[in-house]
This record gives sequence, structure tokens and C-alpha cells, in this order.
Amino acid sequence: LLADDGSVAASIFAEMSALAARTGALNLGQGFPDEDGPPEVLEAAQRAIRDGVNQYPPGRGMPVLRAAIAGHQKRFYGLDLDADSEILVTAGATEALAATLLALLEPGDEVVTFEPFYDAYGGLIALAGGIHRTVPLRAPGSVTETFQPDLDVLRAAVTDKTRLILVNDPHNPTGAVFTAETLTLIVELAHRHDALIVTDEVYEHLTFGARHIPISTLPGAWERTVTISSGGKTFSTTGWKVGWLSGPAALVTAILAVKQFLTYVNGAPFQPAMAVGLDLPDSYFSGIAAVLKAKRDTLATGLTRAGFTIALPQGSYFIVADARPVGYTDGAQFCRALPGLAGVVAVPISAFCSPDHRAEYASLVRFAYCKTTDVLTRAAANLATLS
Ligand code: PMP
Ligand code: GLN
Repeated sequence: LLADDGSVAASIFAEMSALAARTGALNLGQGFPDEDGPPEVLEAAQRAIRDGVNQYPPGRGMPVLRAAIAGHQKRFYGLDLDADSEILVTAGATEALAATLLALLEPGDEVVTFEPFYDAYGGLIALAGGIHRTVPLRAPGSVTETFQPDLDVLRAAVTDKTRLILVNDPHNPTGAVFTAETLTLIVELAHRHDALIVTDEVYEHLTFGARHIPISTLPGAWERTVTISSGGKTFSTTGWKVGWLSGPAALVTAILAVKQFLTYVNGAPFQPAMAVGLDLPDSYFSGIAAVLKAKRDTLATGLTRAGFTIALPQGSYFIVADARPVGYTDGAQFCRALPGLAGVVAVPISAFCSPDHRAEYASLVRFAYCKTTDVLTRAAANLATLS
């Protein structure tokens, strides 16, 4: 986890945001929205602070938030959760992932993820002493398709050594939304090899056209699945770091045992505010997807006009573009040059890859479109000067 000189290596996202700040470039690197979320949610946090909700909340999370999470899972997915035993509030999805992997893995256990993968997965699997196996997502042949796994490669990757299959759907960085066929196969393989499923669904409401299917709703999945989400994306409050997980009581209790020694608890005044968000009407949730789809289309058109080949994402905050048509075979080199070339910051996909597979994705870069239309339009105009 340390750089060669012994210092802490900055995450690619922090490094790219620092580059944007230093150069004044438009930051399409780190995935955070540059506009505030719903006023009801922001005001609820301020009210909670004024009302004295400023001390340690309960270990599992405040009852009002756990009830709202249960209500959300029922309303959108038809799941009946026991808010007292099957839900845990965490310091963002990141702590949910950390506590889950530390609780469920023994040193030497194998974890299968898709690749490219969200960078924290590699670090957290290593911290838990796990062995990371990956299933590459195939780049699409045309803009109308998305990255998808080769199901035979997936079948071969899951074995009796696999303790856990870690899914991220909708997927960062590719924007893929997994099909029912892929998700059903994951459940089948988990049964066949007695593995657990951990699913990171932080972009659950940010899909366009493709329907998000929570894997825990598939037959036979619930009893072996931990589902993770976060208020950061759904309510544009990434800095609040309020996340949650749900699953069978025994798994949640094991994860709570770890969480109590990681952060113990977090975010007292933000918890009731998240509950207000989760209780917002359906129109809020369909509204954010519609707004984000328009942003996706603005950036997709800009990138295509600038000469990039792109894979049109079905969900998440991100578009993956191939830099070869604009003259770069090395995405990392391209991202370092891009602020000077076009006043834009992006992130190389190689940052989401294991050393073994980095070369396959070398020319790909990720652009975030969770930004104001003004920023996206200016970025598109700047990028048009590249070719
Ligand atoms: N998982 C994925 C796939 C992400 O993109 C992110 C980035 N926000 C996280 C987890 C972390 O979420 P949080 O900020 O709630 O810890
Ligand atoms: N999830 C965000 C992204 O993919 C970044 C979060 C972070 O900086 N760790 O850009």
C-alpha cells in the first residue's frame, strides 16, 4: 500500500483532483457531483445539528435511518428487511466494504471481482489477507454495447477456494449494468462453491434504460449476500460518508463486530438527514437519473465529436473512452498530458486494473459526467481541439 519511497501513495482520484486544482483544468477525474443535493436533505442535517443530534449514535445506526433503509428496500425492490438485525449503517460504502471483507475473509481465501475494479477493492482484499482473482470485462465492439464479462471465464474463476464474489453493479469505472443472465450465474456459482456474494450497488439509482436488478432479489441469493450502498451518490453528498449494508442477521452481526473497532459509529446528524432523503417520493429518484442521463449524453456527444471511441454507459457517473483515435496508446500518459492539451482532467483505466491485466486496458481513460452542464460543455469544447 506504500509507494516505493515509503510514502503513502495518493489514490488516483486524489492525485487527479490535485492535478485539476494545480492546473485549473476542468475536473472530470474524481467522481463527485459539483452541485448540492436535495435541499430537504441538506436542511435536515442542519436541523439535526441545531437540535443537538451531535453525540455517538447507536452502533447499528439510528433507528430512523435503519427504518428508512428498510422502507427503501421494500419500495424499490420488494424486500422485507428486519431493521433491527439485517441492516447496518456505516461510514460510507467504503467502511461497509472494509468491515465486510475483514469479517468474512480468512487469510488465504480467494475473492473474485470483475476487472477493471474500483481501486479500494484491491487494497481492502489485501488488508483482509485475501487473494484477489479477477474476471476481465470485455470492451464492447460498438458504442451501443457495454462492457460485459465472458461467462465462461467467470465459470472458471469461481472455485472451491472462492470465499466471496464481490460484485459492483452498476459498475465503476465502465458504467455497465449487469444482465439478469450474469447475475443468475453468479448466484449459481456461489451455491455450487459455497461462496458468499458481496454487492456494491452505490449507483443503484443512477441507471439509464437498463434496469438495475439487486442480486439479493434473485432466487437463492438473499441468504448468502451482503448488499452495500451509500447516500453519497443518490443524494449528492459524497463528503458525508453515510453508507449502509443489509443481509442475513448472522452476516450483519459478524460485520458489526468488525465495524465497532473501525469507526465504532459515524455521522450522527447526517443519519436522520439520509432518512429524509430515502423517504423522498419516487419522482426524486427518477429525476436524478433523468438529469444524469442528459449529462451523460452531453459528454458522450462531446467525446465522440472530439474523436474518441466510447462505450455508452448504462449507469454510474462515468464514460470510458479509448484515447487511441486521438493519438495516445498510453492512457496514463494521456491523462498526465490532458490538462496542458485541453484543460481537462480524466483518470486512466489502468488505475482500476491488476498488474497482470493493465496492458489490455492501457489506452482507456475514464471521464466523470456528474458535473454541471456548463463544465461538461466547456470540457467538450476544449476536447474538440485535440484532433
Ligand atoms: N464503491 C464504488 C463503486 C464507488 O464508486 C465509490 C465511490 N464513491 C465507493 C464505493 C465509495 O463510496 P463512499 O464514498 O460511500 O464510501
Ligand atoms: N468513487 C469516486 C470515483 O470513482 C472516488 C472516491 C475516492 O476518491 N475514493 O471517482
